[in-house]
Amino acid sequence: MKSHDQLYIDGQWVRPQQGGTFATIDPSDESVITQVAAATAQDVDLAVKAARRAFDEGPWPHMSGAERAMILRAIANGIRERQDELAALEVRDNGKPLPEALWDIGDTAGCFDFYADLADNLDGQREQNIALADERFTSVARKEPVGVAGAIIPWNFPMLMAAWKVAPALAAGCCMVLKPSELTPLTALELADIAHQAGLPAGVLNVVTGLGQDAGAPLSEHPGIDKLAFTGSVPTGTRIMQAAARDIKNLSLELGGKSPFIIFDDSDIEAAVEWIMFGIFWNQGEVCSATSRVLVQRNLYEPLLKRLVEQTERLSIGNGMEEGVLLGPLVSRGQYDKVLAAIARGREEGATLLTGGTRPAHCDKGYFLTPAIFADVPEDSWIWKEEIFGPVVCVRPFDGEAEALRSANDSRFGLAAAVMSRDLERAERVARRLRAGIVWINCSQPTFTEAPWGGYKQSGIGRELGEWGLNNYLETKQITRYDSEQPWGWYIK
Ligand code: NAD
Repeated sequence: MKSHDQLYIDGQWVRPQQGGTFATIDPSDESVITQVAAATAQDVDLAVKAARRAFDEGPWPHMSGAERAMILRAIANGIRERQDELAALEVRDNGKPLPEALWDIGDTAGCFDFYADLADNLDGQREQNIALADERFTSVARKEPVGVAGAIIPWNFPMLMAAWKVAPALAAGCCMVLKPSELTPLTALELADIAHQAGLPAGVLNVVTGLGQDAGAPLSEHPGIDKLAFTGSVPTGTRIMQAAARDIKNLSLELGGKSPFIIFDDSDIEAAVEWIMFGIFWNQGEVCSATSRVLVQRNLYEPLLKRLVEQTERLSIGNGMEEGVLLGPLVSRGQYDKVLAAIARGREEGATLLTGGTRPAHCDKGYFLTPAIFADVPEDSWIWKEEIFGPVVCVRPFDGEAEALRSANDSRFGLAAAVMSRDLERAERVARRLRAGIVWINCSQPTFTEAPWGGYKQSGIGRELGEWGLNNYLETKQITRYDSEQPWGWYIK
């Protein structure tokens, strides 16, 4: 039976070897939701060994794609059956408004269905004949699971980020160890429970809750892991990459961003304000692809800022379970303090705070913040360049397309970007010149399981979602056969 102070290892719920726990907090009132098992290196070792056994000896990697697809679909159905309970848990653990949590849970189930279809297709596409220039040989390229995957995920979309890794890894035939964020561990445990009920063989998925240093680091360093898949911040990504380098683990990284949104002056002002708000206030701005740097063409700059402030001040802030709330609390005390410090820094750097950046009057507890709009943000300021990961938008004017592109691309990040214009030819041209892995035209943030997701530059390595997400967990093997009746005749004539 599942209990929060246990880990899911080798198909069993077990207490951590050292018996430790940590508290997970409800960010809306700062109360303790429950105590969660704190895994250490010993537990991680057991989890990796269980995954290793399941991969090396178990049926999972050798089943047909269609057989694995049946279990993936059963997981999707299990998630859908419990969607209200899971969404409410996500609201409590993360703080996000309920409609957004329901959206996430729907997408989580959809992700398992999508990769079930890809697992099905894999049966017909596993081997591809290669035309060789030398007719004495025949060759095939064969897709095989990469092995045991270690997945480490953040707290902003807890169950969805798990699905983005677990669903393609299982579809490919990998076995895995998942470590959720210590700030939002609860839905990953539910996912283990649902997978267990769906009939996933023991050891194929193991879930270890715990702190980054105590559970994440040993997972990234474990020699039994073939592939590491990480989503989180750049500094942790650097550590994971260093750990992976030691034994050349296959690696994919989804890291931070400071994504630009270019708005040309032929844009509809209401649509621009709506997408700017969706781009930075959705999920409290705790979104890696949030369009947090907005560049507005000079003619539209003042009227757009006025309308943006009016609409932003109308946003209802509160407990995510309350009807009509569009902005919940930030995830944790640490994140709240970081965002407040960034706002103070922006003011010191000479940016104009038009609204927000304070605790709302009606919230005396919890990590609530009024959404902040900075205008005239200096291009060399910290708040223009660095990821804040909260409901804080930085706005600057620009004069021409070349200036907008230069400013947008002037970043060490390259996860996402957006452009808005009625002139579609211009919008398409700009989209092709933006140095980012995801570019939205006339919108910001809509994300589809079918399309590739990932960043340029320091925003990451590799792509998740779509067929690219499956390829993350596949190796390509060449099998070449000498088919000629003639002796090879090199040494023996
Ligand atoms: P984080 O890097 O602090 O933590 C991410 C995960 O890494 C957590 O599970 C944590 O416990 C673990 N971890 C921490 N230290 C570790 C270590 N030394 N070794 C191994 N694991 C360790 O990030 P966060 O605060 O949870 O998430 C916010 C960041 O994630 C932001 O920068 C955001 O942009 C990024 N993010 C990116 C994407 C994307 O798709 N590119 C999606 C969501 C979030």
